[in-house]
Amino acid sequence: MNLVFLGPPGAGKGTQAKRIEDRYSIVQLSTGDMLRAEVTSGSDLGVEAKGLMEAGKLVSDEMIISIVANRIDQDDCKNGFILDGFPRTVNQAEALTDMLEQKGLKLTYCVSLKVDDELLVARITGRYTCAKCGQGYHDEFEKPSKEGVCDKCGATEFSRRADDNEETVRSRLEAYHNETAPILPYYEERDLLRTVDGMAPIDEVTKELNAILG
Ligand code: AMP
Repeated sequence: MNLVFLGPPGAGKGTQAKRIEDRYSIVQLSTGDMLRAEVTSGSDLGVEAKGLMEAGKLVSDEMIISIVANRIDQDDCKNGFILDGFPRTVNQAEALTDMLEQKGLKLTYCVSLKVDDELLVARITGRYTCAKCGQGYHDEFEKPSKEGVCDKCGATEFSRRADDNEETVRSRLEAYHNETAPILPYYEERDLLRTVDGMAPIDEVTKELNAILG
């Protein structure tokens, strides 16, 4: 099963992708995570991407398309994958279609998670993750049961993304509406689009997704 998760930042793509990953034994490919790893490693690519990411702008289509094309070829993608954060422009969506065709693969669905902008700002500016295992938390909506201790692994160090501040979030939402939302009709025309209510509680969204994916 090969999926695209589409939705504004904070819609819950990453959270849901992690759950789908386990259920269907496919891998989540987050282009944001890949780029953050490049930034941390200090590679040429990371240096190029850093400023754009901090400003909430998109990195170039060429850069991201080649990263994804290489990643899909790796062994762990054999069963399938969930693209989270890619495609982000109509140009990237077209490139993905061509790329999959060349590899003899097809997209199963594009799942769109719909959420209002104001809720997104609240979700994003409060979110943080365990620095050790990556478990996600939120200042208001999802606190660990013991303050300052990760429920999953017991670690006490947490981190926040540099671009999860209100100003950058507004730019990222603008980029979503201007550049990413126009992808929806692209997938609708190909009968691949499935829409879920991303405002519902996390477990409800998972149920809706499971019903779609079978
Ligand atoms: P995300 O973790 O998906 O919110 O991505 C964080 C940042 O990485 C974005 O604001 C962009 O600067 C960059 N980025 C991630 N995926 C893409 C993509 N497909 N195309 C262009 N830029 C991207």
